[in-house]
Amino acid sequence: MEISLTHRLSYKQASLTVLVAFLLGTVLCSIQVGFDYLSEDASIDREIQALLDTSYNPAARIAYNLDAELAQELVVGLLRSPAVIQASIISADHNLMAHASRPASDSQYRFISDSLFGARRQFERVLLIDRAPEENLGSLRIEVDTYAFGSNFLRRSMLTIASGFARTLLLSLILLVMFYFMLTKPLIEVVRALSSRTLDKPNAALLPCPRGHEHDEIGTLVGVANQQLLNIDDEIKQRKNAEQRLNQSLLELESAVAQRTAELKATNARLLKSNHELEHAQQQALQTAQSRATFLANMSHEIRTPLNGLLGMLSLALDNPSNSEQQQQLSIAHHSGKVLVDLLNDILDLSKFESGQLQLEHIAFDLCALVEDTASLLSQNASPGVELTCLIDPELPAEVLGDPTRVGQIISNLISNALKFTRFGRVDVRIRPAGAGIELSVRDTGIGITEDAYERIFEPFTQADAGITRQYGGTGLGLALSRHLCEIMQGTLSLQSKVGFGSEFTAYLPLTGCAPAPAWGPLRGKIIALTSVSSGLHEMLKTQLPHWGLEYQRLDTDASLLGYTADVVISDCPECLYSTRLNCQAPILLVTAYGSFLAPEQAKSLAPLEQLARPMPRKVLYHALERHFHTRPLELKNRAAGHAEIDYKACVLLVEDNPVNQLVAKGMLIKLGYKVIIANDGEHALKQLSEHAVDLILMDCNMPIMDGYEASRRIRQSGQYAGLPIIALTANALSDERQRCTAAGMSDYLAKPFTREELISVLETALNNRA
Ligand code: ADP
Repeated sequence: MEISLTHRLSYKQASLTVLVAFLLGTVLCSIQVGFDYLSEDASIDREIQALLDTSYNPAARIAYNLDAELAQELVVGLLRSPAVIQASIISADHNLMAHASRPASDSQYRFISDSLFGARRQFERVLLIDRAPEENLGSLRIEVDTYAFGSNFLRRSMLTIASGFARTLLLSLILLVMFYFMLTKPLIEVVRALSSRTLDKPNAALLPCPRGHEHDEIGTLVGVANQQLLNIDDEIKQRKNAEQRLNQSLLELESAVAQRTAELKATNARLLKSNHELEHAQQQALQTAQSRATFLANMSHEIRTPLNGLLGMLSLALDNPSNSEQQQQLSIAHHSGKVLVDLLNDILDLSKFESGQLQLEHIAFDLCALVEDTASLLSQNASPGVELTCLIDPELPAEVLGDPTRVGQIISNLISNALKFTRFGRVDVRIRPAGAGIELSVRDTGIGITEDAYERIFEPFTQADAGITRQYGGTGLGLALSRHLCEIMQGTLSLQSKVGFGSEFTAYLPLTGCAPAPAWGPLRGKIIALTSVSSGLHEMLKTQLPHWGLEYQRLDTDASLLGYTADVVISDCPECLYSTRLNCQAPILLVTAYGSFLAPEQAKSLAPLEQLARPMPRKVLYHALERHFHTRPLELKNRAAGHAEIDYKACVLLVEDNPVNQLVAKGMLIKLGYKVIIANDGEHALKQLSEHAVDLILMDCNMPIMDGYEASRRIRQSGQYAGLPIIALTANALSDERQRCTAAGMSDYLAKPFTREELISVLETALNNRA
């Protein structure tokens, strides 16, 4: 390894030492030169004074004698001194007695001397003699050229500085050689020995120690380096051993991985094969499910038509006078038929789910009306001690977008369960906006559900416990279907319950509002409710009445109205009204359970009185109040009291080819107070329509000659019956049926077999909308 001279340690050390010596030498030289300068400067004055001292006496005597010749000799003699360049003797009367001068010597270094000592110096001494010390004889004047002294001084200084430099140079050379031999050379030997070692030869000989350096720092350095080299050799040996072992393990691992990969490949191949088999099986299962769904849909169509006839006939027979035993048998048969229809519907829906056939509609519908209608329809199942109430947030949109049939199914399942499992207390159906959708909850004070059954009851054909079927009946399908429906609508169905205290099922459905909250015309007046503080009626009135602009006050059922003024009194307690009537003449709205009307004489004693069935839809309550506030004559609808409608409510054109279905529907319609005109097919219907004033058409869809779709299209195309409601009657359970009916111009849809309540609801909705 070659190190350049300037990088060598010896060079660096020598140059550093020389630099220090040079600086020190310079300082010492300067001091020496400085001293020399001072002494030279003083010696100029000293020497000239000595010269003046020697020539003083002769000069005084010459001046005394006024001897000009001698005076000239004296001044010429003074010029022999190398420094004197001018000498003159001046008489007492200031005349020049003698004068001599010569030019000053010249040199290129003169300016240095001049700058140090000044170019010239003048000396003058007054001449006196001892005999006449007071008499001034004149003066001796000498001018000196300092270069005569300065040149000596410059020579000496140059010598001093040059010898100083020469010393320093010599010293640096000596030091360089010494340091090279003492430091650089042995270090280079060590470095060479160290660099000749390689990792391939770990056991190479140790580093030799340069001769004569065994005990100094270089010897120590070599010793420590040898010790470290031995350690490194050991370490390398150990690492090589470890590497060998690692390579061995790697080889073993590689062979294990190869073996495992081969096994995995084999497993993968087996899995792929079974996947194919599974896919095949899944396809087969899907096909089977689809065929089952189609079969069920067809079967249900076939079963529904005769069932419709059966149920209709049974309900007609039930209305005819018969003995109690027959009545009981007929009502059991009627009830069983209804259960069969429900079961059929549920099984059909479930199979549609499983085969992925369930299609959702996305149309605008009135959710509040749907909830209220469903609750009214199911209220007949409520036990006498149960108060069913619909609590609707007034801010809820008038219409939402979604599938009304499927939402109706969820509502119906939850309400019927709540009513089924509640003997006393309240069942509240609550709807309110929540986030980007609607929250619908049904809370009851029924038997409740144990925590361990929370998830189980959402499985198909599963109930909370084994005794339920025995005691309450049911199939265990309703909740499974409802949860499926909520989930395909991107919603949720959750449950909170406490055994013995009741349950609350909450469905969150992301239904978007498409019409603002309904605007009710404001009413003015004061309403007093006689009802318990814990009643559902109070909760409903408290929210709703102020929203319509009415003043609301609740009093306990046993309170007297003496001193209170009210425009209308609302109560759910008929017994407490008799005493009240004496103190208050305001009209009474009596809210009672389904079917419990007052006897005619009781109704008469409370008149003016209007009876409304629970759960009271908002529209019904609003119209009842509106009637009172607009002072129209009160039209009491007391069916129990035998106040039958005069003539008929409306004229219905029933278009139906099946004579049994004709008979059933006609019987129901007449009983409900409608005038019925029959048509056997579409063509016949068009003819009947042209001859009679018809308020509503019930139109079967599948008929010979002209089907219901075609007949409806023609009615709409004629342009004469724009607002005439046409309600489709169909036993076709497939999901696109509703769209087909709407496309043909029909306004609503009633699936066969229908119950009397479903018929009432659909007729009333259609006729109200028309009005
Ligand atoms: P079903 O009512 O026909 O038996 P569901 O799927 O509707 O079938 O209900 C399943 C079970 O959940 C019921 O059998 C009952 O045990 C329990 N259940 C549902 N709703 C309620 C409720 N409101 N109160 C108490 N138990 C309920």
